[in-house]
Amino acid sequence: MPEVTSVSLQEVWRTALPRLAEQVGQATCDTFLRNTVPLAYEGDTFVLGVPNEFAKSWLEERHLSVICACLTELLDEPVGLEIQVIESDNKRPPVPTSSPADSRAPAGEREFSSVPLNPKYTFDNFVVADCNRFAHAAAQQVARSPGKSYNPLFIHSKVGLGKTHLLQAIGHIVTEDHPEAQVVYISAEDFVNQLITAMRDNRMSAFRYKHRYVDVWLVDDIQFIATIEGPVSEEEFFHTFNTLCETNKQVVIASDAPPRHLQIMDDRLRSRLEMGIVADLRCPDVETRVAILEKKAEAEGVTLPREILDYVAQKIESNVRVLEGALLKICAYVSLTNEELTLDRVREIIADYSTASSTQRITIEQIVEHVSAQMDCPVDIMRGPKRNQEVVWPRQVAIYLARELTDMSLAAIGKFFDGRDHSTVLHAYNKVSDLLTNDEAVLWLINDCKGALQAQ
Ligand code: ADP
Ligand code: MG
Repeated sequence: MPEVTSVSLQEVWRTALPRLAEQVGQATCDTFLRNTVPLAYEGDTFVLGVPNEFAKSWLEERHLSVICACLTELLDEPVGLEIQVIESDNKRPPVPTSSPADSRAPAGEREFSSVPLNPKYTFDNFVVADCNRFAHAAAQQVARSPGKSYNPLFIHSKVGLGKTHLLQAIGHIVTEDHPEAQVVYISAEDFVNQLITAMRDNRMSAFRYKHRYVDVWLVDDIQFIATIEGPVSEEEFFHTFNTLCETNKQVVIASDAPPRHLQIMDDRLRSRLEMGIVADLRCPDVETRVAILEKKAEAEGVTLPREILDYVAQKIESNVRVLEGALLKICAYVSLTNEELTLDRVREIIADYSTASSTQRITIEQIVEHVSAQMDCPVDIMRGPKRNQEVVWPRQVAIYLARELTDMSLAAIGKFFDGRDHSTVLHAYNKVSDLLTNDEAVLWLINDCKGALQAQ
C-alpha cells in the first residue's frame, strides 16, 4: 500500500475531483463532491467526510463505483470507499467553493437564507372543514413522515385560503420532531431573485448548497417560477426539485393554480409536479367562517358575541385573509374604546368590506338554468343519466361553473347531477379547464356564463 499522509490524502482527493467532475458532471461535483473532506485511508478504505446524510446517501447510491474506480486508479490498488457524515459545531460544513468568487460564499449563504416561519401558522390554529380537509390531512401526513408518503405535495387555491399557513405548519412540525432537519421555506419569487443574484455574482454553488442540502423544501407561490425569468429559473427549480425528490427529501409546493394550469414551459416539470398528491383549498362555507373567526378572536384574546361572528361571516365571503382583516379591525376597536360593541357598530366598522365580496351567493340551480338556456339543453336532461354528446358537453360546462362559482364539494355536485361519482365531476371540470386554455370559443362561453351569473 502506498504511504498516504494527510497532506497527500488531500492531494489525492484534489486530483480526483476534476476527474470525477468529468464523469459525474460539473453540477453534481460542485454540489456534492467539492465540499467533502478526505478523512483517512485505512487498510484499503478511503474515508470521505460529507456534510450531511443527504450527501452521504446521494453519493453512496449513485456515485460509489465511479469514485472507487477513480481512487483505485490514482492510488494504484483496489480502493473501497466509506462515507461519513461530519458533525460540525453549527451542524453545517463550510459552504462549498468552486471558484475564487465563491470564496465569499458564507456571506452568500446568509443572503440565500429562507424566511423564518410565522409562529401563528400551526396546525393547531388551522380550522379544518370540508373545504380543506383533504389538503390538511395530506399536509399532516407529510409533516409526520417527510419524504415517505406523498412527494411532492402540491397545494393550490385562490388567494387567502391557507396555502402558506399549511406549508408553514408542516415546517413547524418537522422542526419540532427533527430539530436537526434542514427546513427551507421560500417563495418562488425569492428563489428566482436569489438565483439571479447568485448567477450575477458567480455564487451558484452557495445557492445550490442552500437549496439542495435540505430535508424539507417548502416552496410558496410557485406560479412566479413561470412568470419571472422563464427557462433559466424553471430549469434550476426543476433540478433542485428532482434532486430532492430522488433522494426522498420532502417537497411541498403551493400555487395559485393546479399544475396543469401553470404557465411553465417544461412539460417534464409539469408532470413531475403532478406525481405526488395534488390537493386544493376551497372557500370555506359560512359555518367554517364562523369557526375561523372564533378561533382568531380567541387568539387575539377577544370574545365576540355569536350574532357578531355570524354577521361578519355572512358579510365576508371572499377569503380568509379578508375575514381576518375585518376581525382585526373589530378587535382593534374593542381594545381602543370602552364602548360596548353592538351589531350596528360592527356594520360601520366593516362597511368597506361589503364591496369586497358578492352579497348574493350563486346557486347550482341558477347555473344549470343559465347553461340550459344558453346551450339549449333542458335542465332535466342535463341532470339526468343520458350520456350522448349533446347533453354531455352542457353538463360538463355546468359542472365546471358549479365548481368555480359555488362552495360545493365534488361529491355534492355529483349528487346534484343524478348521483354521479366525484371522479366524474373532476373529469368534467378538468376537461373544461383544459379546453379553456386551448379553445377560444370555450373561453368566451365560460366567461359569458360567469359574467351573466355574477351579475344576477
Ligand atoms: P394563501 O397562502 O392561500 O394566500 P394564507 O395561508 O396566507 O393564504 O392565509 C391567509 C390568512 O388566513 C392567514 O392568516 C391564515 O392563518 C388564515 N387562514 C386561512 N385558512 C385558515 C383556516 N382554515 N383556519 C384558520 N386560519 C386560516
Ligand atoms: Mg400564500
